[in-house]
Amino acid sequence: MREFVSYEVIPIIEEYNRNSKFPIHLIPKMAEMGLFGPTMPAKYNCAELNNVSYGLIMQELERGDSGVRSFASVQSALVMYPIFTFGSEEQKDTWLPKLAKGNKIGCFGLTEPDFGSNPGGMITKAEKADGGYILNGAKMWITNGTIADVAVVWAKLDGVVRGFLVEKGMKGFTAPEMKGKHSLRASVTSELIFDNVFVSENNLLPKTAGLKNALMCLNQARYGIAWGVVGSMMACYDSALNYSKSRKQFSKPIAGYQMTQSKLVYMVTEITKAQLLNLQLGRLKDQNKLKHTQVSMAKRNNCQIALDIARESRQILGANGILDEYPVMRHAANLESVITYEGTHEMHTLIIGEDITGIAAFE
Ligand SMILES: Cc1cc2nc3c(=O)[nH]c(=O)nc-3n(C[C@H](O)[C@H](O)[C@H](O)COP(=O)(O)OP(=O)(O)OC[C@H]3O[C@@H](n4cnc5c(N)ncnc54)[C@H](O)[C@@H]3O)c2cc1C
Repeated sequence: MREFVSYEVIPIIEEYNRNSKFPIHLIPKMAEMGLFGPTMPAKYNCAELNNVSYGLIMQELERGDSGVRSFASVQSALVMYPIFTFGSEEQKDTWLPKLAKGNKIGCFGLTEPDFGSNPGGMITKAEKADGGYILNGAKMWITNGTIADVAVVWAKLDGVVRGFLVEKGMKGFTAPEMKGKHSLRASVTSELIFDNVFVSENNLLPKTAGLKNALMCLNQARYGIAWGVVGSMMACYDSALNYSKSRKQFSKPIAGYQMTQSKLVYMVTEITKAQLLNLQLGRLKDQNKLKHTQVSMAKRNNCQIALDIARESRQILGANGILDEYPVMRHAANLESVITYEGTHEMHTLIIGEDITGIAAFE
């Protein structure tokens, strides 16, 4: 993973970021390395790794770029996981091997223009029709949307949130790309629009029965994010450490000043703490003992710390820190998305707050 990111992601990513393009040519290599659905069974072409290994994959990918990590997170945790967990045997056999091989790309549509932190209010709905369902509504901020072959779409059927597989090219389904992002520029973000889209009976994920199933998917993805942002921290720390050892001001390298050392020590300590937290969560996850509130704690804390580290790193680099010759501002900008998606910092505060006090403060 380290070699792949060092030699195939980092050298090209700044240009893709500048041009606001996802490096789609990396997909076959990522698939060959087993990065999609890596904890899933080998019979679906997956690598069957443990959760700590999965976390390390995410950490390394985001050391390259949050957009590349987001691609893998969505494909694995938000597309393959729901098909694996809530799909029929036929759906699993049809989709999982192709998604694992990168021959098919997926996306996950939960957020709507008017419903972000409160997805339960969604207005996208499905109505029973002859042999299937008719979908109407719109999703927004959907990673991979425009390039996806299949969208896992959450819609209300008789008032209950269910998951549907909506396929590229279905009549009435469009996925225009959203433009103008200052963050996650090397990632495709899209709207999904459903205008009387007919999906067959076979495209309903049969084991979905409420919003909790969508939240289970998010919990998988958040676990990966908690690891991923440590990669951003590492990239920013490495940049600051190297720069501070070579940049001389006054009598010596700026690494020789106590205030710079204090920043670097803060960074490496926080990286170590975040890794220890993630390692323990991974071990608990392997034992099926991981609680979603623990994942919230890691996602919330690690994203915040990653942003703090990016800021401190930028400061150590002085004016050079604003250039795209260094990865720091790209990571800082990316992290502004990562702290918001998959549950904002505030939502995770409320989740943990409810857990420790027994009182929900969402409304
Ligand atoms: C680059 C990117 C990619 C994304 N990819 C996907 C994807 O693939 N699929 C998908 O479904 N979604 C995706 N999202 C959407 C993301 O999950 C939402 O943006 C997120 O859930 C927040 O929703 P919102 O932006 O509507 O903010 P809002 O919910 O409108 O929140 C705005 C602010 O109000 C705060 N707030 C809201 N309610 C409360 C409250 N009760 N108490 C205190 N504060 C509150 C929030 O914390 C936030 O600070 C993506 C977003 C981005 C930026």
